[in-house]
Amino acid sequence: MKQQICILGSTGSIGTQALDVISQHPDLYEAYALTANRRWKELAAQARRFHPAAVVIADETFYEPLVKELADMPDVKVYCGSKALEEIVESPSIDMVLTAMVGYAGLAPTIHAVKAKKRICLANKETLVVAGELILQLAQQYHTPILPVDSEHSAIFQSLVGEDGNEIEKILLTCSGGPFRRFTHDQLKTVTAADALKHPTWDMGAKITIDSASLMNKGFEVIEAKWLFGVPADRIQVLVHPQSIVHSAVQFRDGGVKAQLGVPDMRLPIQYAFSFPKRLHLDGDRLDLFRQPLEFFEPDVEKFKCLAMAYEAINKGGNMPCIVNAANEIVNAGFRRGVCSFLAMGDIIEQTMQQVAFDSNPDYEVYVQTDAEARRVAQDIMNNQ
Ligand code: NAD
Ligand code: MG
Repeated sequence: MKQQICILGSTGSIGTQALDVISQHPDLYEAYALTANRRWKELAAQARRFHPAAVVIADETFYEPLVKELADMPDVKVYCGSKALEEIVESPSIDMVLTAMVGYAGLAPTIHAVKAKKRICLANKETLVVAGELILQLAQQYHTPILPVDSEHSAIFQSLVGEDGNEIEKILLTCSGGPFRRFTHDQLKTVTAADALKHPTWDMGAKITIDSASLMNKGFEVIEAKWLFGVPADRIQVLVHPQSIVHSAVQFRDGGVKAQLGVPDMRLPIQYAFSFPKRLHLDGDRLDLFRQPLEFFEPDVEKFKCLAMAYEAINKGGNMPCIVNAANEIVNAGFRRGVCSFLAMGDIIEQTMQQVAFDSNPDYEVYVQTDAEARRVAQDIMNNQ
């Protein structure tokens, strides 16, 4: 039986690479549902190629053109709107849901998929940043497996295979350092989104590329690792590793360290989340350790304030990471539009953390309210700076 996969965000960087994995294993996997936010033409082209049972376009303005475009394919059902995303993941035929959409919008459909007991292949880290405790509690309650797609977390997960319950002493979370690794504070004052979008080792969507440049992405990954592997943040160490070859490592109580290495290629962690516990063939480059040295440095949290703030948020707990995520979505978009400077991003997030009401024990409704409030506050601060 082929595994039926729903890809939330099939037109993005992770989504298209997941479709490449599926096309390499047509005997094992089938795209059952594909979804996108606005790129309806690409979604239609994907539907022609992969013949899913359904497609969903989240932005309703593009429903009609999409329906017209797929008029000659009556077997492909077309839906629109965010509610449709929540419903599609519950389809009885679906085995796995790849959460490859970007941002807070991933939270609600992920909750629905967890409750419907679909294997979650989790790329959308914002879901765990916003509501990690809730997601983990639901996953336990519904016996739903969550497999990491983020390359670092996949590396940690791969390092833990066979370790059944052996205590983790420390997680070594690697980080490319981003395009501004060697920049001085003065140089950081004037960098633009175009500079940030030139990521040295990974080719990713725009939002995560900016988060990688500010190191907020690494901060989010610390939070993601805490929830996925049950390790407190003070035992998660970030190492700047510009070559992006060691994808992360785990140190055990006997001092032994296990890591996963490879060329930077997101298709491996995507495929591993699909095929676990098996490994399948994957084409592409192979690692040549003769070619480059492996270097590791401590991150500069004074220069890259966002990383420090993510640690602060997870140490504080409650809805604080949700506040940071919402403020970050606002400043990240602002930086891309050129209305917020690189260094102002950290300052605005910090002020938002101070202004939004803290709740130490949030439920889903509190997360929804916190997200809305933090966006409003961050937007106000950004407009008035
Ligand atoms: P992307 O911008 O390339 O693609 C995002 C996808 O989500 C698109 O298909 C888009 O149509 C859809 N989408 C965006 N907003 C939406 C909304 N409001 N409702 C419904 N659909 C929406 O992003 P990406 O780089 O593929 O990243 C996707 C997720 O995976 C992010 O959470 C990111 O942090 C995570 N991730 C990405 C990489 C990578 O290499 N790109 C690595 C690790 C983790
Ligand atoms: Mg990552």
